[in-house]
Amino acid sequence: MNIVFLGPPGAGKGTQAEKLAHTYSIPHISTGDILREEIKAGTDLGKLAQSYIDDGNLIPDDVAGGIIKNRLQKDDAGGGYILDGFPRTVPQAEMLEKLLEEMGSGLDRVVYLDASPEVIVPRLSGRRVCKQCGKIYHIKNMPSAEEGVCDVCGGETYQRPDDRPEAIRQRFQVYRDKTADLIEWYDKKGLLTRFNADIVKEETFDELKELFDRIEEGNGH
Ligand code: AMP
Repeated sequence: MNIVFLGPPGAGKGTQAEKLAHTYSIPHISTGDILREEIKAGTDLGKLAQSYIDDGNLIPDDVAGGIIKNRLQKDDAGGGYILDGFPRTVPQAEMLEKLLEEMGSGLDRVVYLDASPEVIVPRLSGRRVCKQCGKIYHIKNMPSAEEGVCDVCGGETYQRPDDRPEAIRQRFQVYRDKTADLIEWYDKKGLLTRFNADIVKEETFDELKELFDRIEEGNGH
């Protein structure tokens, strides 16, 4: 099952993709998570990516494409995956299409999680993430038992620099300018399924699960 998750920042792509990947035993491939790992490890890629990410801008298409190319060639991606955060521009979608063609595969579906700014901005500004294991919390809706400490691994939770108000504004602008075009691009190819992600996340998860079950049965439209 090869799936792409699209949608504005804060629509819940990471949270839903993580749960679904676990349910269907396929990897959740997030370019944002990969980049944050590279930053933590202090690699050249991490150094290059840091200022783009902190300011809410996109890293160059060829760099993002290279990351995905490496990742999709790993063994665990052979049985399917959820791509979260890639592609983010039309050139990236074209790169992915070409890469999958070369690999003799293709996408089964593109999930578009649609959410309105009134719902998203408070979601993003209250988000906290574990520095160690990446678990996502929210200061109001899903707080950790002890403030600042991850329930799962005891790591420190923090606010991503790009969840600050100025960076959130910039990420929305980038989404409108570059990523939103992908909705039409994939819709024209007959691959897009839209979900309303303003509702509570459990309901969105149940709806997504129905789609994933249909895809597994070979009827994902
Ligand atoms: P995310 O965790 O998906 O919100 O990604 C965090 C940040 O990583 C983005 O705001 C970008 O700076 C960068 N990033 C992640 N994926 C991509 C991509 N496909 N193309 C360019 N930049 C990306």
